Amino acid sequence: MEQIGHWIDGAKVAGSGRTADVFNPSTGEIQAKVALAGKAELDRAVEVAAAAQPAWEATNPQRRARVLMKFVDLLNRDMDKLAEALSREHGKTLPDAKGDVQRGLEVVEFCIGAPHHLKGEFTDSAGPGIDMYSMRQALGVTAGITPFNFPAMIPMWMFAPAIASGNAFILKPSERDPSVPMMLVKLLEEAGLPKGILQVVNGDKEAVDAILDNDVIQSVGFVGSTPIAAYIYERASANGKRAQCFGGAKNHMIIMPDADMDQAADALVGAGYGAAGERCMAISVAVPVGDDTADRLIAKLAPRVEALKVGPYTSGEDVDFGPVVTAAAKQNILGLIQSGKDAGAEAVVDGSEMSVQGYEDGFFVGPVLFDRVTPDMDIYTKEIFGPVLSCVRAKDYEEALGLAMDHEYGNGTAIFTRDGDAARDFAKRVNVGMVGVNVPIPVPLAYHTFGGWKKSMFGDLNQHGPDAFKFYTRTKTVTARWPSGIKEGGEFSIPVME
Ligand code: NAD
Repeated sequence: MEQIGHWIDGAKVAGSGRTADVFNPSTGEIQAKVALAGKAELDRAVEVAAAAQPAWEATNPQRRARVLMKFVDLLNRDMDKLAEALSREHGKTLPDAKGDVQRGLEVVEFCIGAPHHLKGEFTDSAGPGIDMYSMRQALGVTAGITPFNFPAMIPMWMFAPAIASGNAFILKPSERDPSVPMMLVKLLEEAGLPKGILQVVNGDKEAVDAILDNDVIQSVGFVGSTPIAAYIYERASANGKRAQCFGGAKNHMIIMPDADMDQAADALVGAGYGAAGERCMAISVAVPVGDDTADRLIAKLAPRVEALKVGPYTSGEDVDFGPVVTAAAKQNILGLIQSGKDAGAEAVVDGSEMSVQGYEDGFFVGPVLFDRVTPDMDIYTKEIFGPVLSCVRAKDYEEALGLAMDHEYGNGTAIFTRDGDAARDFAKRVNVGMVGVNVPIPVPLAYHTFGGWKKSMFGDLNQHGPDAFKFYTRTKTVTARWPSGIKEGGEFSIPVME
């Protein structure tokens, strides 16, 4: 059985205590054991980071960026290997796993611009003989805690700007799929990153608490479910750390009567069921405006959902989505599906009983499409994080907008319409962080920022884009006046005979 340890001080370190099982979700088999760090292992990594960081910060930003350039080459070289390892532990299809790596890689590319992003501001002659300038300086030792659903992308969203800014970074990945983060740190060291600047400490709550209580760590990034995001934000802030914590979601897509219904149905199928619905930007609620729109939408949607192919990633491009991550996740999803039926939602498509031939022990859940869901049902209020799409019928645009506005989560949302005025009004008024207009999953590109509102985000600075360089640096502002010097006494015109 493979033993996955930690990566500390440029080497693989075996765990010294508890472990967790790492499953292959397609087969249900345990394929590895991952070490769960305690305080001593975390503190050791912090010591190493603190010793390595000053020299890295003193390395000029162009040289730091060159390490990231080389890292991009290595990511592309090893793309297939990374995707395979990712799919084997997560269950998503290989093309989707490559997308996971790619969306992280794009943030690394953005961070290659670090010399530009870290430039300060300068005011010449702010007063007589006075100049004022600001510089952005690294925080020191930083840390991040990441979820299972994007084991390549989200770690890269954190560590690329952190190390480009001159920090050391300690990553605590999800214990469900720890292999890809271990591969990423090795690739970065192959690209020339000094040891100790990026380290991986695997673990669970014990390792997380050790991060939150360590005095040397200056900042904590978190992505995961909302209750843990709130806990980490509070404890990190109480301990004087800078924190940005991203939580769960319930993303609504409004379908106006004038929308192209084929386009809307295609968008919903991809956004609702891709990666088995295990995306924080998945659309989990469709809100058609008017009964006629709802009937037309369901008529287009149902056959598409029925036709979805579910299977292991090893089946190649034949499969639309794979299993969910664990048996516990499957049970939770099936429980919520049952609660929807009990509460009177209409299961137009019900794949909850499906099993995949030859993979009966895999954690597969077939696609489920509910119609006539109402806002009091658990399947509406809770994040299901599975292949379940709920249709809530709204009588008019204002009611549809109100649904998205009143939900406690505010990560992403979308409107499908041909009407510019409705789209513009929606984008302006909705209290959600990322909005799509005829785009179902509006994940901003690397040079913009990513972040939700309401219970989907605790903190103020978003991930990637310019915010990332703000999050991982402190501003220092210098006011300088130089008293008059030798120039006052100097003679600068050519001496001439009077
Ligand atoms: P999770 O909250 O269970 O775990 C996330 C991380 O927190 C993991 O590293 C885990 O080890 C750690 N953790 C778990 N329980 C903990 C505890 N009690 N104390 C301290 N640390 C703990 O989330 P998950 O199941 O890995 O990921 C799915 C969730 O992440 C969904 O809610 C999804 O919406 C959310 N997510 C949000 C975003 C976003 O950007 N908003 C992106 C991706 C995923």
